[in-house]
Amino acid sequence: MKYEADCLSSGRPPQEETKMAGKQVRAQASWKADYPGAVVYDIPSSAWTYANRPHDLAITYVVIHYTQGESFHPISFGPGGLAHYGVGDDGSVDQYIQERYIAWHAGNWYYNQHSVGVEHTGYGRPQDWTEAKLRGSAKLVANICERYRIPIDRSHIIGHSEVPDADHTDPGPNFPWLKYMRLVRNYLGGGSPTSRLYRVQCGAFGNKQNAEKLVAKLKSAGYDAYVMEADGLWRVQTGAFTERKNAENMVAKLKKAGFDAIVVGG
Ligand SMILES: [Zn+2]
Repeated sequence: MKYEADCLSSGRPPQEETKMAGKQVRAQASWKADYPGAVVYDIPSSAWTYANRPHDLAITYVVIHYTQGESFHPISFGPGGLAHYGVGDDGSVDQYIQERYIAWHAGNWYYNQHSVGVEHTGYGRPQDWTEAKLRGSAKLVANICERYRIPIDRSHIIGHSEVPDADHTDPGPNFPWLKYMRLVRNYLGGGSPTSRLYRVQCGAFGNKQNAEKLVAKLKSAGYDAYVMEADGLWRVQTGAFTERKNAENMVAKLKKAGFDAIVVGG
């Protein structure tokens, strides 16, 4: 079975109560948001598929979209499909579909079954990716990844355009992936300074160029490496984990591949 996703929206202004497919959609929905603070809506069950994720189907991906509209409020969606979440310019988060249900957003049934979809307002232009929107979205995605133990890397947090067989181009060339992934990592553990996070570090350098050389080497070996600046040093890291065991597993893998690696933080 395959459903067509639809990232298009009319751009009509947000409304508290509106109609979709002839049915009422309310901001005051009858269920509780999976993401604390998200505004929830009752979307007719004709617009998604019942499931009991992650018990019947594992959740292993987050798919990033934009709406091609100023708004993604439910009125703007046709019968095509709808992601679980929508993030606005101000970083506010709406939830349309419970995470345990399958939303039709990825244009690929397997990915729909195994992902959480996150829409963003706008047309994918540079000015549409506001700081507040990126931060609101990254915080949401960090929370989703933490709850389902989804690795924070570009194999698991993907754009709609990266879904196999998807014919959509969102989030497009202006989406700042490097910055976004850094934000997601920073928001792990709720982003609070007291949160314990175990980071895998492959080196620390006094100059950025040397750090970037190591990042390039790690990337060509298949690792999702990045540079983090802290205490005047450019630190090359390949992951952040909430459990020490997972960080240690990554260190063992890196050492086997000939890289130096240690666990830091926690
Ligand atoms: Zn999309």
